[in-house]
Amino acid sequence: MSERTACSGCGSTLLTERYWVPRQPVVLNYRFGSLDASRTVHRRDLELRQCSHCGLVFNAIFDPTVIPYDENYENRQCYSAAFGEHLRTLAADLTADNHLAGQNLLEVGCGKGDFLRLLCRTASAVGDGFDTSYEPGSEPEPPSVRFHRCYVQASDIQKPYQAVICRHVIEHVAEIGLFLREIHAIAVAAGDPVVVLETPRFEWIVEQASFWDIFYEHCNYFPEATLAYLCRAVGFDVVRHRRVFGDQYQLLELRPNRDRARGTAPGIEGRASLAKFAHLASEKLRVYSETIAALASGGTWGIWGAGAKGVALVNQLPGDLPFVVIDSNPAKQGGVISGTSVPIVGPGDHRVAKLKLVVIANPNYAVEIGSVLQQIGFQGTTINL
Ligand SMILES: [Zn+2]
Repeated sequence: MSERTACSGCGSTLLTERYWVPRQPVVLNYRFGSLDASRTVHRRDLELRQCSHCGLVFNAIFDPTVIPYDENYENRQCYSAAFGEHLRTLAADLTADNHLAGQNLLEVGCGKGDFLRLLCRTASAVGDGFDTSYEPGSEPEPPSVRFHRCYVQASDIQKPYQAVICRHVIEHVAEIGLFLREIHAIAVAAGDPVVVLETPRFEWIVEQASFWDIFYEHCNYFPEATLAYLCRAVGFDVVRHRRVFGDQYQLLELRPNRDRARGTAPGIEGRASLAKFAHLASEKLRVYSETIAALASGGTWGIWGAGAKGVALVNQLPGDLPFVVIDSNPAKQGGVISGTSVPIVGPGDHRVAKLKLVVIANPNYAVEIGSVLQQIGFQGTTINL
């Protein structure tokens, strides 16, 4: 893959700093058919760069064609109580604040459809969801929601929608400037909808030095000011921009207008600097490797969370691999961590109670994980990352 020399958001060639992560699996959230398929998953290097003009952080050697977004792509977080609460609050707030009751809703990149079903139920609304990784569940879909296993473009929009939802998609899209323009065109074709974007905040990743939040599927990392700037640049008004889910994510509510008010480019802010992250992350990687080796010494250890964070941890931490990775999502249990043969087990698995150390990949889930571990008689140590 040749190296990108211009920012995918604003086109500037003023790029700074390289943060290099060697040989990561190209897909983390995936159901592999066999152990061999997991062990032999494609691996690619990541080379993050930051745009000095708009502040976007992106993987300059990203190749979208190696990621299989098919029905085995498994990215549901709905099995966690904390994440479920976030989704229910979000659905209720969006419905009330944007008067979505009884309206038509569109979701771009709806995954398996969990949020669209919830939002349509909350708002008594009718929804269309588009995603290549959608697969029908065991239950028939409610008549108010229709799913389409394909991408959507502005030319596909045949009726007005009052909301266009696009959650956890923009961090996966290589040509992000073009994609935001397409979302704007979809919004214009849909009438005057509220457009809702949700994506991780790069400020949180820097603050936590969370090196496990850097992985191949995410080719973009958005500082808040950068994302607002790029949205305005394609013709959106930013109506509301707030932090959600323990400040890990940012949520934008946008309205399409006819003018492109580019405004002043934010540049690189200190709290969203890739150089600062690179420094903190390499230090943290060293400290965690040593801590885990010391606390797990003479026993086995595990990671709680087979989501992207957990998989990135297994693949980035030097030293001995964990014995198991624990996840409450039944669809992940019985599988293996991408790029390895580390098994994914449920909390009830007999190996879990005997672990000497459990590393909790996402601190937002620490309370519920602590109480489950207590119930199963776990006597070891837990650490939050
Ligand atoms: Zn830029």
